[in-house]
Amino acid sequence: LGPTVAVGEILVEIMATSVGDGFCEPIALVGPYPSGAPAIFIDQCARIGGAAAMIGAVGSDDFGRLNVGRLAADGADVSAIRVDPDYPTGSAFVRYRAGGSRDFVYNIATSAAARFGWSAEVEALVGRAGHLHVMGSALSMKSAVEVIERALPIVKARGGTLSLDPNLRKEIVYDAATERRFRDLVAAADLILPSGDELARAAGVDGEAAAVARLLETGVKEIALKRGAAGATVFTRHTPPVFAPAFQVEEVDPTGAGDCFGGAYVACRRLGMGIEAALTYASAAGARNVTRRGPMEGAGSRAELDAFIAETARHA
Ligand code: ADP
Repeated sequence: LGPTVAVGEILVEIMATSVGDGFCEPIALVGPYPSGAPAIFIDQCARIGGAAAMIGAVGSDDFGRLNVGRLAADGADVSAIRVDPDYPTGSAFVRYRAGGSRDFVYNIATSAAARFGWSAEVEALVGRAGHLHVMGSALSMKSAVEVIERALPIVKARGGTLSLDPNLRKEIVYDAATERRFRDLVAAADLILPSGDELARAAGVDGEAAAVARLLETGVKEIALKRGAAGATVFTRHTPPVFAPAFQVEEVDPTGAGDCFGGAYVACRRLGMGIEAALTYASAAGARNVTRRGPMEGAGSRAELDAFIAETARHA
């Protein structure tokens, strides 16, 4: 039906090499790494062999070239990525704390990442898209919201589908308008990929079973619930839940696991795989990605994921 399209922030990530609190002293950093949740998603989607395209923007600088070059090299359609002549590519500085939580310094709102809109290239891409993927984090970006709200009815009218990763972040202010947009997307989504308390937030009810039941009742066809190192479960209205235990890996950098999981899951389902096979690839993509430093560095091709699955044990 056409490519899977993601809309949103394209960033570089620069990360601290030491664990600690924040950036209020000089510390050693590594990067830049290509990043941005929707970009990681679309990169993994492309790497596994699904038709994939990205809508967003970068600056006319090395960070932008790094991102666009990586996405293109991995097989994604980059025709609808705007190159902004005036603003730099967005960036995120990240440092892990001892407990596993992270401190970020973001430069998104004031960067090219937040400055794109409907264009001839976007229109052409949306007009042949088969699936739209939205990250909740995009809802705080006016440009992304405008494109999503315009693209969604076009994709749906073509018989296309919508997936939503709630990706709720503490840095995002959930005012009434953002909350309403989030609710509208939940109502329109065919597939939701929540983790942690995002399931309850999306459903508007507490408790896993109740939240799953509510979402399936209101029209969501599939829920892929991500549980980190505890695995993942897919729920549908007509089939029993399918659980996939996580692969046993040494976690080096958890950033991007959920995005790789989602990119692989959506690509595999759209390539015609059943839930179980798609969930295995998705779990492998998430696990493989945490073994590498950098949010997109562990995204895997189908052959790499096949090799990873063959050689990696699963948790009991
Ligand atoms: P998110 O980043 O959206 O919170 P998760 O952290 O749950 O998502 O990761 C998505 C999926 O990736 C998990 O369901 C699991 O299959 C895999 N995964 C994530 N972290 C690990 C880990 N430490 N070990 C093995 N698999 C993992």
